[in-house]
Amino acid sequence: MKGAGWKSISLVDVKGKVTFTLWLCGCNLRCPFCHNWKIANGSREACSEIDIEKMKGDLLSVLTLIDYFHVTGGEPLMQVNELKGLFKELKSEGVKISLNSNLTLPWLLEEVLPLLDHVATDLKLPEFYGYGEATSSAIFSNFLKSLDLLAEAHTKVELRIPIAKGYELSAYENLFRAVVPHLKFPHYFVLNRLLGPPLTEPRDEIWCRAHCFAGLEEGVEELDKLSKILNTANL
Ligand code: SF4
Repeated sequence: MKGAGWKSISLVDVKGKVTFTLWLCGCNLRCPFCHNWKIANGSREACSEIDIEKMKGDLLSVLTLIDYFHVTGGEPLMQVNELKGLFKELKSEGVKISLNSNLTLPWLLEEVLPLLDHVATDLKLPEFYGYGEATSSAIFSNFLKSLDLLAEAHTKVELRIPIAKGYELSAYENLFRAVVPHLKFPHYFVLNRLLGPPLTEPRDEIWCRAHCFAGLEEGVEELDKLSKILNTANL
């Protein structure tokens, strides 16, 4: 299993929960704001074979302190066979499993779905996938299929909404209206203003110069409006 390491105690990977977090390499998307792009690209600089036994030892030592074993990336489902084996083993030992996925590979999600207690995902405008319009639209359909699968399985979902400058509120509103009918079981939203250099190292710095760091005033106002739109879309 190729990964970029783990952190035994993390307070920032799942909202309000303590996690043991593992980063896996590879991703099928090319999001311009991605600050884990070296992991997503599977670069030699960032990725190597994970020492599973050592990781399980570290996990065991903090088991009573954590809420979830959380796997992120990259896109963890790119290594679904190995991931399924690991999840099965941990689940049989009573560990709760949380997956961070872009949810654009529903046929791979199905492989691990019964083993998941929690899923975190970005709710992105399709323009953010890093592909042309037709491909992005097909990818977004897959995202909706994944939400349907999670709803059927009654899996708790955390949806993080990347907020960027230079996009109309109506684009977000259309996104919410498309997504809300697919959310039938526990879910919650996190508004996530995109950061850029020097706080992060995004894949596409030019894109980030134009779209990251919505100004404070503008950002607060936008977040407020988006919260209202979300509440309305939820009704
Ligand atoms: S889906 Fe996540 S890991 Fe993959 S490119 Fe986008 S932000 Fe990066």
